[in-house]
Amino acid sequence: MTVDHSFRPTGSTFSREDPLTLQHAYGNYVAHRINPLTPLELYIHVPFCLRRCGYCDFNTYTATDLGHGASRSQFAHMIEQEIHLLDDWQEQHGIPRRPISTIFFGGGTPTLLPAEDLVHILTCIRRTWGILPHAEITTEANPDTVNERSIETLANGGFTRISFGMQSAVPRILNILDRTHDQQNVIRGVRAAQENGLRTSIDLIYGTPTETMEEWKQSLTAAVDLHTTHISCYALTVAPHTKMGRIIRDHRIPPVNDDDEAEKYEFADQFLTNHQFTWYEISNWSIHGEESQHNLGYWKNVDWFGLGPGAHAHLTTTHIHDELHPRIWADKLNAHLLPWVEPEYLTAEENLEETILLGIRLREGLPLSQIIPSLTSTQTNHLTHEIHQLEHDQLLTLTHQHLIPTLKGRLLNDLIINRLLESITPQNNHTT
Ligand code: SF4
Repeated sequence: MTVDHSFRPTGSTFSREDPLTLQHAYGNYVAHRINPLTPLELYIHVPFCLRRCGYCDFNTYTATDLGHGASRSQFAHMIEQEIHLLDDWQEQHGIPRRPISTIFFGGGTPTLLPAEDLVHILTCIRRTWGILPHAEITTEANPDTVNERSIETLANGGFTRISFGMQSAVPRILNILDRTHDQQNVIRGVRAAQENGLRTSIDLIYGTPTETMEEWKQSLTAAVDLHTTHISCYALTVAPHTKMGRIIRDHRIPPVNDDDEAEKYEFADQFLTNHQFTWYEISNWSIHGEESQHNLGYWKNVDWFGLGPGAHAHLTTTHIHDELHPRIWADKLNAHLLPWVEPEYLTAEENLEETILLGIRLREGLPLSQIIPSLTSTQTNHLTHEIHQLEHDQLLTLTHQHLIPTLKGRLLNDLIINRLLESITPQNNHTT
């Protein structure tokens, strides 16, 4: 996979307590604040990969069995246990059951599990919580780990969408990224998905060291030629402790270049726009109506449960995540405990920050109505002034009371966020 679907909020944490006390306190807190009308999404993290790609620092493991039930063969069963424990927790604390609005299997490589196991998990979710009619149900797929039969099983089992990790169409670039698939696997996988009535999405990476603009264009062309309806383009980021990070440090390949990535982003935006795609979130383009509902839910800060090692959940104004290491995660499940690490309870300021940093990524923009009511009149004045400055700097537009980043603003999104946040920071808002 290319994107970490979890968020690491800035909220304060309570100290480590014994797991049952933690579960209980968290349940009581959530029960008093949850809005049963907010959509509830579900993310399932499958932490297994065939081999680790050189740039990857996601929570994923190449061993087939990490012990204590944290194995590929036992994984569906362990997730089933987690579903039942979570359902019991809701019931014990009077948290209303809500049918699931979207489901996303990410990783890792979910399709390393037999398709029957993924369908089994889906069946268990349906029986426990229900799934809304027409819900989007996606799995990520490494093109090496699906075939016509497994895709048919997924489609018959209720999946509606597959997101293929293509990354590049250029063998030389795939080689630098340590990817094992070739373009023929991608073409076969996408065709099988389409023949089975599944929507498809393609993940691409730009900015791999030494990638030329011509090679990037080749990848974009190949993605569009697949007749997919959704394309995500992610700038390569390389953590220093990864294999690629070490190779860069040893000067065996040049580092990632910000200017090169910015140029490739602009090129992608123009190229995809010319092919009937529209950006709807900084890294995502789709044919009209084919936006990923699950992703949009994240940016709109809806509620979601996270299942699987390291999976993050967001309920009302809290975040909580599962134990990162699969063995510790499995140990807790085997002890009939929810495999959680301490929750983070966001203050009103932290919640506002989160609303801003998520909403400002969207084409539909960040509604001012989500910010202004929580501000003092001095803060509102400072914010209004800063919005004018940002418009003047051509970083965003204020349209129908929504803040929408321009192309330049998409490239400098962090700058917009910092300036908006600074303008409403209390110490910058003294009245004189
Ligand atoms: S396929 Fe590669 S990039 Fe994706 S999670 Fe596995 S190791 Fe990481």
